[in-house]
Amino acid sequence: MSLAPDGLPPLREVIARHGLAAKKSLGQNFLLDLNLTARIARASGPLEGAEVIEVGPGPGGLTRALLSQGAARVVAIERDARCLDALAEIAAHYPGRLIVIEGDALEVDPRPHLTGPARIVANLPYNVGTELLVRWLTPPDWPPFWESLTLMFQREVAERIVAAPGSKAYGRLSVLAQWRATARIVFDVPPSAFVPPPKVTSSVVHLRPVEPRAAIDPKVLERVVAAAFSQRRKMLRQSLKALGRDPAPLLETAGIDPTRRAETLSIDEFLALARVAQSLG
Ligand code: SAM
Repeated sequence: MSLAPDGLPPLREVIARHGLAAKKSLGQNFLLDLNLTARIARASGPLEGAEVIEVGPGPGGLTRALLSQGAARVVAIERDARCLDALAEIAAHYPGRLIVIEGDALEVDPRPHLTGPARIVANLPYNVGTELLVRWLTPPDWPPFWESLTLMFQREVAERIVAAPGSKAYGRLSVLAQWRATARIVFDVPPSAFVPPPKVTSSVVHLRPVEPRAAIDPKVLERVVAAAFSQRRKMLRQSLKALGRDPAPLLETAGIDPTRRAETLSIDEFLALARVAQSLG
């Protein structure tokens, strides 16, 4: 059997040998091209000496790229026990540098396995990707424990993350991402790059935390943004009723015209609204 340049077997062979037929219920669309996984790993910046958290390593294509580019340690959380033997082979090839945790990334805390700030790099399962992103963006304290996020999403979700006010894609995810981070789409990945191919194009998004522009409770901001976009086409004086209070004084104190719609508000205007909502309790 011929080996890949990293000295491990080609991914197709790994998948066949370990019987890793992709399961839709686990959002499994595997990347088999090691040039592509290397490109995703590079998009997170130079990896020499870095600590990385990977969600959903699957058969390990991206994991291998992170390790071969010099990551000091990869902590990988995988829900599918079928993948563990394949990942153990990678761990043996890079002694002491790969820790695999079997479990649900929504429940597992990888931080005890890290010695310092880590970056998160993942080809995320589509069914939990947005939920994880929102959690990483809304801890009470900032800066967060991660130093960057390099994540694969469906192109449509990626567009929502980076969207500017006034655009069709601008919404809850845009505000929650851009409030505390810079976000950009690095490159697109066609369906044909995955096994099995998904229906839509995917994109790699890179986010870096910035200093918060205001000391605001993320839970309050989340509520305000969810209410404002709950009825996208409605004026704020209507949609913000979802907060369970009269929106008029809120909008007036924040200096925002009550006839405007959520999609026209800048991030700073959402922050002003959240600040007032917070002060009113
Ligand atoms: N990283 C691999 C690659 O790029 O080929 C696999 C990516 S695949 C899109 C998503 C992976 O996440 C699968 O291996 C799946 O089993 C795993 N997964 C799904 N839900 C998960 C969860 N809640 N926590 C951790 N891993 C999960």
